Amino acid sequence: MRTEPLTCGATVEVDLDALLANYRLLRNLAPDAETAAVVKCDAYGLGAAPVGQALAGAGCRSFFVTYPEEGARLRAAIGGAAAIYVFNGPDPRSLGLFARAGLIPIVNSLDQARLWRRDGRGAPAALHLDTGINRLGAPAAHHAAIAVEIDAPVLVMSHLACSSDPGHAENRRQLDAFVAAAARWPRARRSLAASAGAMMGRDYQFDMTRIGAALYGVSPFDAPDDRLAPTARLTAQVLQVFDASAGDGVGYSRISVLTRASRLATLAFGYGDGLHRAASLRAEVLLGGVRCPVLGRVSMDLAVVDVTDAGKVSPGDRAEIFGPGLPVHEAAAAMQTIGYEVLTSLGPRVARLYSGGAPSVVRDGDLAVTGRFA
Ligand SMILES: *Cc1c(COP(=O)(O)O)cnc(C)c1O
Repeated sequence: MRTEPLTCGATVEVDLDALLANYRLLRNLAPDAETAAVVKCDAYGLGAAPVGQALAGAGCRSFFVTYPEEGARLRAAIGGAAAIYVFNGPDPRSLGLFARAGLIPIVNSLDQARLWRRDGRGAPAALHLDTGINRLGAPAAHHAAIAVEIDAPVLVMSHLACSSDPGHAENRRQLDAFVAAAARWPRARRSLAASAGAMMGRDYQFDMTRIGAALYGVSPFDAPDDRLAPTARLTAQVLQVFDASAGDGVGYSRISVLTRASRLATLAFGYGDGLHRAASLRAEVLLGGVRCPVLGRVSMDLAVVDVTDAGKVSPGDRAEIFGPGLPVHEAAAAMQTIGYEVLTSLGPRVARLYSGGAPSVVRDGDLAVTGRFA
């Protein structure tokens, strides 16, 4: 039996031209470094294959993913030319996949260094040195032993813990620690910066920057950054419209009680699709150009908004949850999180639509290429 594609009617429109504009902005901000693209977690929820193809078409030569399986899919989408680095590195089960897909492991520990030296067939490897984030990467006490196993890495990298605040003293301390630690491998290229570090200036850029959030129009800083073009627009469908009276409750537990006669619109979109339950009573959506507040609890598949002041609203109308008219950092603040999490928590029932980029290189058969944003 054929299964129908399952969507909630919501779409995220990905403007690949805006993505490429952000890529070029980051390249111009770091003219002496290579700008590599981080497309882990399905390109932050926006689709690693079309995003990777657009970037490769624009000259991006290096990509980062988290798992070798992500790397193998990206390789199938973009072909053989680009370097694909894998953050989590190799384990005994994934060695074959690294070889078949031509992936470069990022070695994070002495165990991984020994494994790659023994079973990596002499293929290139990168090193991740921990300089204080204490998350992933080799601690300083192991660097000497790792250098015995891997004496000629193609890249030595580290990751900043506090770069969302460019003025944080930890940034400079990690920078100094990175320079000192990387000196053990003087011929290797060096990389310290993700989006935030790359935008903090030359000191942090070294030979390669690793750009995720900024590509997708998400500020890597605690504050918004209007240099970045919005890349994604999320709209959900109105399912039903209600006229309700003062004193009526809305949704589970009646956390909203109407203070006036109101027109309510129920969206076919809930926390199961990416509108976090924390958005209850906090988020707004755009309908007919008017900001409409979310009332009551967001539920799994539904959310209710007050459209009393929005003019005529009918079932089938589309409400913008974030996009050019409602910045993703505002939607994120209403959900008490960051733009990164808003994008990566978009559910599988949200259709991804693409415009711009270079559709000629797109090979994914069921990819919809739409017109530009309205
Ligand atoms: C996710 C990640 C990046 C990209 O970070 P952004 O802030 O999204 O640019 C870079 N480096 C490492 C190690 C990462 O885990």
